[in-house]
Amino acid sequence: MPVTRFAPSPTGSLHKGHAYSAWLAHGFARERGGRFLLRIEDIDPTRCSSEKTLGIFDDLVWLGLEWETPVRHQSEHRDDYAAAARSLAERGLLYPCFCTRRDILREIERAGQAPHGSEGPLYPGLCRHLSGDERAARLAAGEPHALRLDLAAALALTGTDLVWDDALEGPQIARPERLGDVVLVRKDIGTSYHLAVVHDDALQGITDIVRGVDLFEATHLHRLLQALLGYPVPTYHHHPLLTDPEGRRLAKRDRAITLRSLRESGISPADLKKELGFPGP
Ligand code: GLU
Repeated sequence: MPVTRFAPSPTGSLHKGHAYSAWLAHGFARERGGRFLLRIEDIDPTRCSSEKTLGIFDDLVWLGLEWETPVRHQSEHRDDYAAAARSLAERGLLYPCFCTRRDILREIERAGQAPHGSEGPLYPGLCRHLSGDERAARLAAGEPHALRLDLAAALALTGTDLVWDDALEGPQIARPERLGDVVLVRKDIGTSYHLAVVHDDALQGITDIVRGVDLFEATHLHRLLQALLGYPVPTYHHHPLLTDPEGRRLAKRDRAITLRSLRESGISPADLKKELGFPGP
């Protein structure tokens, strides 16, 4: 029985793109007699608020979605993500990174040709090369730091032939090197999107992940994390993103197209669903 989820971050208002994604995930489960879960990805207290979360509930009720309760709020499960990070750290798969954004940019400029991954320049490895003594001294001094994945160490454990399936794009070989030594524990919030999402999808038994193609590249890393943490591998359904008439991706900051404003303008969810290409009732 398939289990899908919609996992918004309450950092702003939902827009048509979220409605599209949520309806796809909901429909996938409903058409197959499966389960649909809602998860609130609110690990970043500087960008998320309970007011925005309530707004998301209003929007999803308006869309006609029904989900199981209790809803998982990531902000209430920081211990889980800390335990997952600990399990990686204990195997030497994380290293502390003391760099600021500026340090990283400066190093990329200095090196001239920094290797680029799918998401931009890769972390140039400054803190990967610190000596054990320097690392210990900076940690003992309480210097703020993130924890990064030591990709080489991780791949030495898992091998490089991990695979995952995308329902639209077909079988994929995981290529986490396209993302490099990513931060898995942010210095400000003590976890990261990647760690929390992979943990929760496993914990909640999600079998089919329906989400936008903007997260396709992240899946290469997620597959590696699943292997490292002993989690099952769901099937992915990365869907195209909705664009505006100029071909630009819909973004949360574009207030005109929020679901709330559509709702207030009197459009019905059925009209919106039709506009987004779903077959009528
Ligand atoms: N919370 C993420 C977002 O709002 C989505 C996570 C996911 O679907 O994996 O972009």
